[in-house]
Amino acid sequence: MTIKRDRLAALHADEEARFVREHPRSAELAAQAQHSLLAGVPMPWMTRWPGAFPLFFESAVGARFRDVDGREYVDLCLGDTGAMTGHALPQVAEAVASRASTGITTMLPSTDAAWVGEELGRRFGLPVWQMAMSATDANRFVLRFARHLTGRPKVAVMNWCYHGTVDETLAVLSSSGQVVPRPGALGPQVPVSETTAVVEFNDLDALDRRLALGDIACVLMEPALTNIGIVLPESGYLAGVREVTRKHDVLLVIDETHTMCAGPGGATRAWGLEPDFVVVGKAIGGGVPVAAYGMTAEVAHVLNGPMLGEEIDVAGVGGTLTGNALALAATRATLSTCLRDEDFDVAVPLASRWADGVAGVIEEHGLPWTVQRLGCRAEYWFRTPPRNGGEAAASGDHDLEAFFHLWCLNRGILLTPFHNMALFSPFHTTADVDLHTAAFEQAVAALVG
Ligand code: PMP
Repeated sequence: MTIKRDRLAALHADEEARFVREHPRSAELAAQAQHSLLAGVPMPWMTRWPGAFPLFFESAVGARFRDVDGREYVDLCLGDTGAMTGHALPQVAEAVASRASTGITTMLPSTDAAWVGEELGRRFGLPVWQMAMSATDANRFVLRFARHLTGRPKVAVMNWCYHGTVDETLAVLSSSGQVVPRPGALGPQVPVSETTAVVEFNDLDALDRRLALGDIACVLMEPALTNIGIVLPESGYLAGVREVTRKHDVLLVIDETHTMCAGPGGATRAWGLEPDFVVVGKAIGGGVPVAAYGMTAEVAHVLNGPMLGEEIDVAGVGGTLTGNALALAATRATLSTCLRDEDFDVAVPLASRWADGVAGVIEEHGLPWTVQRLGCRAEYWFRTPPRNGGEAAASGDHDLEAFFHLWCLNRGILLTPFHNMALFSPFHTTADVDLHTAAFEQAVAALVG
């Protein structure tokens, strides 16, 4: 069975009209924002939502949010992981309010600092930590450290990775295997081929060959790709990456910003990985901007020297507001009460149920589509599971994705904007999952007709 392409445009147009009809207040606010904000939004990617204009939200609690037109939604995006804990946690709100009324920014460490370092160490198995404002920042700092530690100029990343707005990582392989700027990356300051090597995920030989050239400081990677859809590591691949990086004296940086959906200590703990650095961000502050990076005792030992130097304030690592007391209070409140085994024990079965529901619909209609899951995150593909970023990127189907997103939104379900992805928190329910399965089934039925 295949979908009927000629139906797609007409069905989509109906959904667009419904969206505009049902969101007059968001339309008004969007029109107003056009005058003062570039592209009418505070951040460029806020234009990527389905519908003619972004929804403006009024409140978000647990697994739901309400828009300014009074409509309520099941949130399967959860701020693209920033709210993986669920929204508006009372204990985080309390910690934030208390800290806000007792001072946020002094450039001095606060009483929560050591607790946060110890807890991150307990979860991820790396003993020494530093804070950052965002995962982007954390990745930038780690790349700088890696170059400092190895004296090598380049970093290696996976084809079609995403690690935030880090210049070196906005690189992909061209069809002839050259390192080129990622399509859409604005104004690279230096050619990415000078800063970056790119290899395909799940290809150990390519990694080995590239690292053998001796110019790579570190491999920065997600343990499973999550930003070009979910691409899981093949059996033995991550152990092989560790072996190959060690063989060439290259540092291994695991970015767990999204893969923390695999468990309380991310894939690093769940799969027994042994990185030199680990990066975490987004969810650890319960919605408050904060990120962190951990390192081995060996790395910390070498870095301790320069970190204590006179010129550390201009070393290219950190930021005035980084490590502020509000961020640390929010992180402590979050990590002491959320993203624990018992939370994943609720969220992961919900993601499984979602994946089973979607797979059931796909099977019932005989479509050549598949579903992937990593912990409490799941996603459907309009193809068989890709092995790497290159295959994944080649299989995008913009029109079909846009249709499913809008269809779901009009039925009270928000998917992650960039993929067909759903993320679950302990606040979701089986009814939320089944609401999506029913909407997905109706959309597929309308398309196959
Ligand atoms: N690392 C990964 C794996 C990410 O997915 C992202 C954002 N999607 C980032 C880093 C950057 O996070 P932020 O935008 O919060 O800096």
